[in-house]
Amino acid sequence: MVARLREHYGINDPRVLDAMRNVPRHFFVPEALQSRAYGDHALPISANQTISQPFIVARMTELLELDANSRVLEIGAGSGYQTAVLSKIAAQVYSIERIGDLAREAQARIRELGIYNATVKCFDGTLGWAANAPYDAILVAAGGPTVPEPLIAQLKMGGRLVVPVGESRESQRLIRVIKTEQGRKEEDYGGCAFVPLIGQHGWSDR
Ligand code: SAH
Repeated sequence: MVARLREHYGINDPRVLDAMRNVPRHFFVPEALQSRAYGDHALPISANQTISQPFIVARMTELLELDANSRVLEIGAGSGYQTAVLSKIAAQVYSIERIGDLAREAQARIRELGIYNATVKCFDGTLGWAANAPYDAILVAAGGPTVPEPLIAQLKMGGRLVVPVGESRESQRLIRVIKTEQGRKEEDYGGCAFVPLIGQHGWSDR
């Protein structure tokens, strides 16, 4: 899986490749699908959600430009896989998941792997997590109609926010927002398809 990330997808950051090598993805997918855990695809987890394709996890992590001092916020813990990858690089990871069962399971898996610098909580992540702000980097693992404003407010100056944004619930563009003295800089990293971001600054729960 890591060789494909490097050779086929051009992921170069050694910290990202090491982190992906050090987190067992099969531990985060349902038992029946474990033989496919290192394939090149997203997989279903419980509650109709998905664990993202390894390439997307690597790409988003690389775009955050993390180091060992980074404080990171993640929206959409899901299985906890991306949370675990972030925790291998950053100093502290705060993750939010709106589905209670997923949040509890993600936290339990992470502890079982002996990771103590990541915390998962259940609430609406489009509001951010103000108590631990500001963050060096924020990753949103679900697609919303716009960039949630509270997340920009909780970024440090120079901080990076990576978020899928799209006019429909089904497809998005992967956007990186960098907070600058002048306001913000936005970059587009191409098309992608995430599950919907549901919340006050996302899609409505219908
Ligand atoms: N990174 C995850 C992918 C999870 S899919 C992994 O590696 O497994 C996206 C997740 O975002 C889903 O679990 C969904 O429940 C969650 N989500 C959607 N809207 C949310 C919101 N407003 N706040 C927190 N989590 C949200």
